[in-house]
Amino acid sequence: MDDLPRTDLRAAIMWHLTYTLGKDPDHAQLFDWRMALSHAVRDRIVDRWMTATRDTYRADAKRVYYLSMEFLIGRLLEDNIVNLQMTDQARAAIESLGLDYRQLLLDEPDAALGNGGLGRLAACFMESLATLGCPAYGYGIRYEHGLFRQSFLDGRQQEAPEDWLQQPNAWEFERPEARFTLGFGGNILTRAGTTRWEPEHFVQAEAFDTPVIGWRGRWANTLRLWAGRAVNPFDLERFNAGDFAAAAENEALARTISRVLYPEDSTEKGKYLRLMQEYFFSAASIRDILRRFETAHQDLRLLPQKVAIQMNDTHPAIAGPELVRLLHDERGLPFDEALDIARGCLNYTNHTLLPEALESWGEALFASLLPRHLQLIDRIDDAHAKAHPARRVSAHGDGRVRMGELSFIMSNRVNGVAALHTGLMKTTVFRELNDLHPGRIVNETNGVTPRRWVHSCNPRLSALITDTIGDGWIGDLEKLTELEPHIDDADWLARFAQVKTDNKAGLCDWVTREHELMLNPEAIFDVQIKRIHEYKRQHLNILEAIALWQEIRDNPGAGWTPRVKIFGGKAAPGYFFAKDIIRLINDAARVINADAATHGLLQIIYLPNYNVTMAERLIPAADLSEQISTAGKEASGTGNMKFALNGALTIGTLDGANVEIRERVGKENFFLFGMTVDEAEARRQVENHAAGAIAADPRLARAIEAIRAGAFSPDEPDRYAGIVGNLTGPDYFLVASDFSDYWRAQREVDQAYADKRNWARMAALNAARSGWFSSDRTIRGYMADIWGARSLTGN
Ligand SMILES: *Cc1c(COP(=O)(O)O)cnc(C)c1O
Repeated sequence: MDDLPRTDLRAAIMWHLTYTLGKDPDHAQLFDWRMALSHAVRDRIVDRWMTATRDTYRADAKRVYYLSMEFLIGRLLEDNIVNLQMTDQARAAIESLGLDYRQLLLDEPDAALGNGGLGRLAACFMESLATLGCPAYGYGIRYEHGLFRQSFLDGRQQEAPEDWLQQPNAWEFERPEARFTLGFGGNILTRAGTTRWEPEHFVQAEAFDTPVIGWRGRWANTLRLWAGRAVNPFDLERFNAGDFAAAAENEALARTISRVLYPEDSTEKGKYLRLMQEYFFSAASIRDILRRFETAHQDLRLLPQKVAIQMNDTHPAIAGPELVRLLHDERGLPFDEALDIARGCLNYTNHTLLPEALESWGEALFASLLPRHLQLIDRIDDAHAKAHPARRVSAHGDGRVRMGELSFIMSNRVNGVAALHTGLMKTTVFRELNDLHPGRIVNETNGVTPRRWVHSCNPRLSALITDTIGDGWIGDLEKLTELEPHIDDADWLARFAQVKTDNKAGLCDWVTREHELMLNPEAIFDVQIKRIHEYKRQHLNILEAIALWQEIRDNPGAGWTPRVKIFGGKAAPGYFFAKDIIRLINDAARVINADAATHGLLQIIYLPNYNVTMAERLIPAADLSEQISTAGKEASGTGNMKFALNGALTIGTLDGANVEIRERVGKENFFLFGMTVDEAEARRQVENHAAGAIAADPRLARAIEAIRAGAFSPDEPDRYAGIVGNLTGPDYFLVASDFSDYWRAQREVDQAYADKRNWARMAALNAARSGWFSSDRTIRGYMADIWGARSLTGN
């Protein structure tokens, strides 16, 4: 066997094809070539990865541990090639083998180990941590089945399991030696003044490591995902007795833990398995963190100097009591000291203020699974009450364990994800705790990685920017402001506009190929892609589309600006209202797209199976970004940032990071509408507010009436009675009350788009002024304000 070629990529691909995949080049399929390229790329990551690990040990640097139930990674091959700056080399090597480079990249499954923004944030953070040379580990669950695959049948969402691991995963390294045995249930034994938990059931967590390389390949960190394994996978006795299925029962049960991602985006189901998953990955991670610390240190009191743990939402909140338990019960530190050490390490990011999404567990269920943790939570509450006797705020009470309070009490820092959201945390969910712990809550406005969300996904724009200001912006996104002087140059602006035109043409080709629909490339591409939720108000968007359709039909010659409305997004399988919204959009699209009277002026398309790859395809082609949540309900949003960076204008409410986007891009380059948080709160107090709004706006009344009368569901006229009843009744998310102003803003969009040059100017200003929304900036904030961590590459 020849040595593996180190420098020639083409030779390395051939080597891996032969020796790693065992394939004769004459018979290799696209999959084989893709795997061979992936292995050749991975080889180039591994050396840097090991160097980074050695550097971290040598410097005895503080490590950051990012605990997240979700990592919405997407594809990795292009990301890795781009960060290693091997794009030209890789394309040349693949083309020299007679293969199509794009097609090969698209062969990779999209790793969807998350639901939406929260999981995508974790993935962007991993990339930025590596880019900044901050020693860090991501910890999560290696779900066998990621987020379900969505399709439509007669307009209704269908869910099929996503099986990204059907094919071998080129990026991960299985670590059979890195295993922890974790217990559940059982009893608590007190002997000679010490308390110990004697669990009843056991499972093992086995580690799978994926290296994450930063921009320019200077540093690599580890994403460590845990898989469930049985302690005794196989019962030979039962097998020999002929009970073959029962012999493997242990293994099947243990594997169930990491089988599926819970497809709940913001509502928590009180599911036993879900709590098991949370404990499983948190406890395995905490043990791994302690093990690593103890290889270099004896004194556990140094832990907060060497370890910063970030809990992404409350899903890993059990990490707090688990760390206390390991320090106190298992290592014998006094309880108060164990508590102080744990609190010195832990931090918590809050992602939602929606009351139904604040996680809590019934105490009976909690105690049956984690009896010792419940005792420790009570002691944590007691210690907190003793330190702050003025007011009683506790994690356990009224028969429930509240994970938000637990996370807050156990954390050194608690952060919100946009300025508005952080402010609201202080006055709503954590008002009392904020009074008791002033300064604990800090803000870290979200960001997105510019490598994936501009440079890779929008190669035309990337080339123009680099041609204009050099390539420094990719690692320092605020350099985009250097574009501003060029925006007044008509030739430059024409090139900028041409990028969008070309991206739109590319999307049209793809839609024609995949969905047999011809989109009008001259139209405004108006895009709303995100999870389907009432607070995100896709139904406000479709109502406006219906009203517009009716108005165009009334008055076809009124010089309408053509529109293509593009939707994408999944609904949680048990969220029936959201599923009705999907069906309504599809039903309305069918009727409206078939109407000759509005043909070419209004088209609606709902693209199935929205995921990271689709976001990368759609965002560069968008003219208008729909960020229309009810004020106070979207914590930050990150989709909004991706659009602005790619030169789409936002139509949006004063919610989440929209507020900061608008401040930065300038209010004249942002289509604002809708109530503020305070106005929304006041509006909810008005009796029959929805009916009042409908009565005051004939367009809205007519659009709702069309839905009610079955204009889009003639075979089942009352199909949307639920939606209509909500919109005309309680309408908690104030769709009716915000409709008129949304309509007004949309007509301003029409007007503005008619002036092509000025539109391009506004779009370019959005791109030039959005560099602050890089997740590099966000991570620098966490490093300085929360973790006290430093870069080992001088970044
Ligand atoms: C960015 C992103 C999100 C978050 O979108 P929001 O509009 O902020 O809710 C969700 N899903 C995917 C696939 C994304 O890329």
